[in-house]
Amino acid sequence: MSRRPFRVGRARTGLGLFATKPIRKNARIVEYKGPLLTGKAAQKAENGGNRYLYEINKRWTIDGAGRDNVARYGNHSCNPNADSYNVKKRVFIRAIKNIKPGDEIVYDYGIDYLKNVIGKSNCQCSRCRKRRNKRAAELRLKRQRKEARLKRERSAKRAAARKSSKKSAKRKA
Ligand SMILES: [Zn+2]
Repeated sequence: MSRRPFRVGRARTGLGLFATKPIRKNARIVEYKGPLLTGKAAQKAENGGNRYLYEINKRWTIDGAGRDNVARYGNHSCNPNADSYNVKKRVFIRAIKNIKPGDEIVYDYGIDYLKNVIGKSNCQCSRCRKRRNKRAAELRLKRQRKEARLKRERSAKRAAARKSSKKSAKRKA
């Protein structure tokens, strides 16, 4: 039996953390664990493609790439239900809302990560997907309206052409 109130499971963007028990707002969920790197070593790790670096401050960064760091499976969201905070050189994830079993536990990685790693227009969080879907639906509707208008205009033109050809046929008779 795990004491953790969550499990690692399949999420939209790979793996994610999912609540298995109700988690109350402000409750500590998990520690973001890993060796501490100094600024220089962190830069080197980043250049090497390490995507699990958590910068505590200018001096210290946690290398969270280890598989025993389950917190690393927590995905980013622009509408998070958790956030990270540090106590000296340790980092924890806590709930910022009441979280229901089955909910994915997500936190905001910060604007730098969103811009540089995820790419602002690639964010797969539920808020961004909803926003993009809404925008796509609006564009679809706009296109449909335009097509309907063109169709009306075309058939009106055809009707007018038929009318005038009838008239000229009459005149000829
Ligand atoms: Zn997002």
